[in-house]
Amino acid sequence: MRRASDIAADSRSLPPALLYHKIAGTWEVGVTWTPPGLFRKQMEMLAELGWRTVLPGDIRLNSAEHSGCDRRFLLAFDDGYECIHRYAFPVFERLGFRAAVFVPSGFIGKWATWDHQLLGRRFRHLSREMLLELNAAGWMVGSHTISHTSLIGLDDRHLQRELTDSREFLQELLGAAVDWVAFPFGRYNIRVLEAALRAGYRGAVTPVLHRANSPGGFTLWPADAVYRWDSVRSIRRRLNRGTGYRTGRILRRGVNFLSGGTVIWRRLFPR
Ligand SMILES: [Zn+2]
Repeated sequence: MRRASDIAADSRSLPPALLYHKIAGTWEVGVTWTPPGLFRKQMEMLAELGWRTVLPGDIRLNSAEHSGCDRRFLLAFDDGYECIHRYAFPVFERLGFRAAVFVPSGFIGKWATWDHQLLGRRFRHLSREMLLELNAAGWMVGSHTISHTSLIGLDDRHLQRELTDSREFLQELLGAAVDWVAFPFGRYNIRVLEAALRAGYRGAVTPVLHRANSPGGFTLWPADAVYRWDSVRSIRRRLNRGTGYRTGRILRRGVNFLSGGTVIWRRLFPR
């Protein structure tokens, strides 16, 4: 068991990470989407400045090897929506970038019925074929559990099932190891971390770094969520950890907390 201060120190030595959700071509309620044109500009700017993407499998974790190496960042997509294949994949192919995509294994190729659907806007998740194509292009596919349920309230059996079965399903589909997970709504505690370790994961990409202890051998990689209001400049500032970074982080934590509203929404209006 490591102390919270050690975990924070470990995570600071990792390259910075950005966490996107939807790349949406038309207006959408909520803040977790980026228009395709803006996404393209953000990525082109980073490529121009010499930034290159890195994936969890590329670096030896818990070593000093990567700490002095700048201009490398992790880009992760939460939820694995179809629009990523349509809008982000071509941009990444052109720039030689690769991303990590976290998909709920029970929703592959299906509509995101786990999400609240204000004004009837619906989004579909990546299909099997798309996931295989991304994987073949060097993208990392990670687990986002089976059903995109908050893991905190689950009993032991369901918690383990969400983590273990989603990992096994994706490994079978891809024919490759799936070692990383993203917890739905960024929600976890020590019990969730221990269950993830038991399921065989090596780490999690998370928008929030809690002051919880973490089992040894499990890495928490903090990623800054990107929201609708983020500009080309704010993304650059984010990676450089420049002025306003800390204030922005407090704001982003607040927004992530509000995303728990989906959990309440699902409880009030179950399907
Ligand atoms: Zn999610």
